Amino acid sequence: MTAILTDRAIDLLIGGGTSTGSGERIPVLDPATGATVATVANASVDDGLLAVEAAAEAFTHWRKRSPRDRAEVLRRCFDLMVERSEELSVLIATENGKTMSDARGEVGYAAEFFRWYSEEAVRGIGQVSLSPSGTNRIIAVQEPIGVAVLVTPWNFPAAMATRKIAPALAAGSTVVLKPATETPLTAYAIADICREAGVPDGVINVVTTRKAGPVVSAMLHDPRVRALSFTGSTEVGVRLLHEAADQVLKCSMELGGNAPFLVFDDADVDSAVDGLMIAKMRNGGQACTAANRIYVQRGIADALLERLTDRMAGLKMGPGTEEATECGPLVNRSSVDKVADLVDGAVRDGARVLTGASAPDGPGAFYRPTVLAGVSAESQIVSEEIFGPVAAVQTFDCEGEVVAAANSTDLGLSAYVYSGDLGRALRVAEALESGMVAINRGLVSDPAAPFGGVKQSGLGREGAHEGMLEYTETKYIAVAW
Ligand code: NAD
Repeated sequence: MTAILTDRAIDLLIGGGTSTGSGERIPVLDPATGATVATVANASVDDGLLAVEAAAEAFTHWRKRSPRDRAEVLRRCFDLMVERSEELSVLIATENGKTMSDARGEVGYAAEFFRWYSEEAVRGIGQVSLSPSGTNRIIAVQEPIGVAVLVTPWNFPAAMATRKIAPALAAGSTVVLKPATETPLTAYAIADICREAGVPDGVINVVTTRKAGPVVSAMLHDPRVRALSFTGSTEVGVRLLHEAADQVLKCSMELGGNAPFLVFDDADVDSAVDGLMIAKMRNGGQACTAANRIYVQRGIADALLERLTDRMAGLKMGPGTEEATECGPLVNRSSVDKVADLVDGAVRDGARVLTGASAPDGPGAFYRPTVLAGVSAESQIVSEEIFGPVAAVQTFDCEGEVVAAANSTDLGLSAYVYSGDLGRALRVAEALESGMVAINRGLVSDPAAPFGGVKQSGLGREGAHEGMLEYTETKYIAVAW
């Protein structure tokens, strides 16, 4: 077992060595109890710049390794992650609060990025063509971009890290990862696994800090950095795009969502409820792809609400690490307060509570699985990411009306459509302003598919072949031969 999985005082990882940073420690809390489970080092601005230096030095070697060589290292990362999946799942459930079943799902998904990009590493394919004038050849090749700064959120601490690290390394680039302070242990554990798998020192550096603003800003202004890949809120993403503009960095931004979940009268109600439970409750509702606005056509609304309420009311709440738990705590108490405010506001605006709508007494950041019916389109719960176990349901009458409602947001990450008529489902999928649409499914994520949003949900794509291009630059060579 790797040391990170058992150590309880983790230091920064810079150039293959560890550093205590500023000396101050950041506690990592178990959201089910509020107890400190470990501490991580707190990086200063200088530590961030040392990490950039280490990544820049490592880049000079890593970029020269053959694609096959890089592929084999990534494949070993996949094998080791699968081997360690149970320990990693416990670690994620402990620091994030998600259920063991969600944690296992995340580790499997996260590991797949190493496998997928081990396969893509040998496909950095360019192109050769004759110019239209016939005077010369056009050669276009993909080169590794260099040092990338990766900033990740707390809700998928493994998958958000590997979705960036694997394509960057496959492309021949090197990285400095700054994970969220709520769930940093998983990031350090993954870096440790990568080292064991043969990733050379300095190719992956990890810095945790309480001063995310100044540390990330300093890195983005260091001329050795050429790319930023950020996953997190739209608010912070917009700020980082401004910062990245100073050095004209290549930016990949995976930002907030406000996913509509549409169920038409001709859908199979049981399968729609199954899909909704996944789309709503994965990670306790704390997912950028979570079904945030649920629109049900009037003819089946009563049947769907009844089944959904039974399922939500029957979920067993408890610490994520307990095998029987079906709904873990939220990441911290302030998240509980935010969810409670949104629910209270919706109820004031006329929503009916079918189950839940309160936080239990006692320790831990718990909020009861909740179903609200008759939610007003004007309520704040409709325009904001709920990020909690709350199904906010509205009814609709016709297709045009629901498409207009679904598109009435600045965000456009994922959307869900349930219908027994594939023609209708595809027509609606095309009309939705969203980077990803799931038809008769509650899950969109797949390492082999391009993940990303439109409008203020982001720029660029992660996963698929496109995900690797975020860490390359195209070079065109004009040749007369
Ligand atoms: P967040 O924006 O608060 O934080 C994300 C990361 O940015 C963390 O590492 C944080 O420390 C860092 N950060 C915060 N302020 C910063 C600053 N000023 N400068 C530099 N870095 C800073 O988001 P969160 O609360 O950790 O995560 C939830 C959000 O992430 C939600 O909006 C969710 O939709 C989004 N998300 C999006 C995707 C996606 O793929 N589109 C996936 C997961 C989460």
